[in-house]
Amino acid sequence: MLHTASEEEIKNGQVLDIYFLRTRRVLEARGIDARVRVEFMAKGMPRDWTWGVLAGIEEALSLLGDLDVKVRLMAEGTVFRAFEPVLEIEGRYLDFGHLETALLGLLCQASGVATMAARCRQAAGDKTLYSFGARRVHPAVAPMVERSAYIGGCDGVAMALGARLIGQEPVGTMPHALVLLMGDTVTATQAFDEVIDPSVRRVSLIDTFQDEKFEALRVAQAMGRRLWGVRLDTPSSRRGDFRRIVEEVRWELDLVGRSDVKIIASGGLNETTLKDLAPLVDAFGVGTAISNAPPVDFSMDIVEVNGQPLAKRGQRSGVKAVYRCSGCRRDLVVPLDRIPDACPCGAPWEPLLGPPPDPVPHPRDIRDRVLAQLPFFPTAG
Ligand SMILES: [Zn+2]
Repeated sequence: MLHTASEEEIKNGQVLDIYFLRTRRVLEARGIDARVRVEFMAKGMPRDWTWGVLAGIEEALSLLGDLDVKVRLMAEGTVFRAFEPVLEIEGRYLDFGHLETALLGLLCQASGVATMAARCRQAAGDKTLYSFGARRVHPAVAPMVERSAYIGGCDGVAMALGARLIGQEPVGTMPHALVLLMGDTVTATQAFDEVIDPSVRRVSLIDTFQDEKFEALRVAQAMGRRLWGVRLDTPSSRRGDFRRIVEEVRWELDLVGRSDVKIIASGGLNETTLKDLAPLVDAFGVGTAISNAPPVDFSMDIVEVNGQPLAKRGQRSGVKAVYRCSGCRRDLVVPLDRIPDACPCGAPWEPLLGPPPDPVPHPRDIRDRVLAQLPFFPTAG
């Protein structure tokens, strides 16, 4: 059996840190049944990140759906910053406290993946970006990882169930296994061409046996215009400089009049190597860097008890509003009932926290929303 929690076990609150159960026992023994507001907030960001992309909201709402609670939240796909509440829950603490561990897990991991996908999107510029990382995570969460990678800015995903979740066809080329089992790159590519549905692009994996340059030329010659692209899956650690190899392949293909053949790169890529290769490469497959991105460390904190502002030290109490300037994208966190002064740039504020969406947005629309914000949120360096 798999070492995973079922949806039922998660909703029942069995994925919880034990201190909640003890807390509930004490509160019940003393007859304390308080209404609270809690907020989910990141008090710092991983690495040198200055912003994140909020993901995991749809799943979080599905956990809360059956409970008697009120929710305010940022829309999934909102770019948020540290110290901004992204989700607020109001209700009896005893009704939803048992979901703290699970809710945090949903938001922290999905937001980390979506944020890294967005950073890779920026590094890849206008080049195509695919998520190839399902194999790097537990299969039970791989669909969630693929969805988060997509809404963060990937153009497509390789894993079939993940693709179904985002309403797309999965994308992929051919594995080294096919080339090895057919015994030759050209033979494998021609067999692929003869057998596979014509709607699938013909992309030859050229780094299995021989030098990438000569394999690219051989396969381009054999396949003629039926060849859409060649894929290089050689991580830079394998030998030499990956960029130089790609440059060489591009040069030789151009020289024989095959500027139409696209170059697809995969294998150990990250936001730094994407930036380096983007001028040369037409499409990227990114795995571990996105699928195993660092989580965003959200925490869930009480900010109001029985209508009175109350929070632990280091935490601002009371219910809040978050505003973003529609001009300069400056953010402002204020008490909910406070109308903020105009932004110095003169543009109007837009509130970021609101009621749950109805209907649930399509992943494509969430991704569009992310892409529209990214130009205003550059990565450092
Ligand atoms: Zn402004």
